[in-house]
Amino acid sequence: MTKNIFSLCLVLLGVCALTAQNARGQTQAEPDTALRMLTTQQQQFEQGIVKVSDNVFTAVGFHGANTSMIVGTDGVIIVDTLMGPTSAANALATFRKYSDKPVKAIIYTHSHGDHIGGASAFVGDAQPDVYAADGFGSAEGVNQAVDPVKARRNVRQFGRNLPPTESTNRGVAPTGTIDHDRGKGFLPPTVTVPSSGLKATIAGVEIEFHIGPGETDDAMFIWLPKEKVLFAGDNFYSSFPNLYAIRGTAYRDVLSWSESVAKMAELKPHVVVPGHTMPIQGQEAATTALTDYSEAIRSVYDQTVRGINAGKGPDQLAHEVKLPEHLQDKPYLIQFYGSVPHAVRAIYTGLLGWYDGNPTTLNPLEPRLKAKKMAELAGGTQRLSAQMEAALAKNDYQWALELADHVKWLEDADRELARKVKIEALRGLAAREYNAPNRNYYLSYANELESGQLSDLWF
Ligand SMILES: [Zn+2]
Repeated sequence: MTKNIFSLCLVLLGVCALTAQNARGQTQAEPDTALRMLTTQQQQFEQGIVKVSDNVFTAVGFHGANTSMIVGTDGVIIVDTLMGPTSAANALATFRKYSDKPVKAIIYTHSHGDHIGGASAFVGDAQPDVYAADGFGSAEGVNQAVDPVKARRNVRQFGRNLPPTESTNRGVAPTGTIDHDRGKGFLPPTVTVPSSGLKATIAGVEIEFHIGPGETDDAMFIWLPKEKVLFAGDNFYSSFPNLYAIRGTAYRDVLSWSESVAKMAELKPHVVVPGHTMPIQGQEAATTALTDYSEAIRSVYDQTVRGINAGKGPDQLAHEVKLPEHLQDKPYLIQFYGSVPHAVRAIYTGLLGWYDGNPTTLNPLEPRLKAKKMAELAGGTQRLSAQMEAALAKNDYQWALELADHVKWLEDADRELARKVKIEALRGLAAREYNAPNRNYYLSYANELESGQLSDLWF
């Protein structure tokens, strides 16, 4: 672990000093280093147009995701449309410097809102075909019963309420995106791509649609055989993939994700255009990136499955599973967005549900009772609280958090002190995080605790 972080810091930034406690988290480094890494990652989504081939242009940084324009003989094709019409119109205005031909077709790589909500801005009065995979939208329909809590967790993961002094980015997307018109420009699909895929010629451009489940079941990747350009959707971007989103998601089929990326690599593209972050150009670079990405996902999956079958639980596996050494320093696999430990937990739950097979966890103690017993073990509530403060003083932030979460249940404790310790410990962890969702979540939660937005028991 230490070697991993150390070497990637060397690659990215030159110097990286680590302390013992920081080596605990897979995505933690010294505060200056973590911040510099995240700042460097911002180059991946700075606003601009990338010419990826003679007739293909990708707009990066106009919202969180990318949108691309393929120029044909008598029209253009748009791949993904950003979150809403305002950002889409901004991207289109820039595209128009390269071609003023009418939009003949729109393609959604998958149904997430940041790829579909701006379509109307591209079409004007025309009625182009809108292509999407069979089962389009299936990812959006699940878990609606828990939308209220998912919305709160979404705000934290993306740091939507963070002040500028605490804001960095979202791992594969900038902060401060235009969101007031989200979804307002969505146009429903008119052409369904079947599971066997589809080949078409649109505006004189040969184009292939391949079904490729991964981040969502309705994902597809788009291949231009003549230009050798591949549009990967969100199954590839420059970061270890978000195999699980801490805002709360149903299981994402990790094995299918790896297989879909392997199929992309078989095409040996000259350019891969990700759903987010900069295109990767050059046949060797693009193909290697896809091969590595598929292997990384598969390795995390296989290690987790082996551990499960050896009887290990998710807590243990989340700390044991690592990226293979030869992939650890690849710039497109650094855990700015997705995280290996979270992926391991998601795979565990996705395959087996919550139960870890240990009878101790079949019916664990109720949290308030467990807190009382922890206090007894420590020699009383005062001593447990003192341990909590001592952990914070030693920058042992995770332990401070875990103790604070016991102290908060104790009626004879200084709960206000526990709340303050939790706030400080969260900020201590956040300062050392280069995984953007973790960092944003820690900071957002600390701010909510400080401003009294959470209940007495911090839910
Ligand atoms: Zn996306």
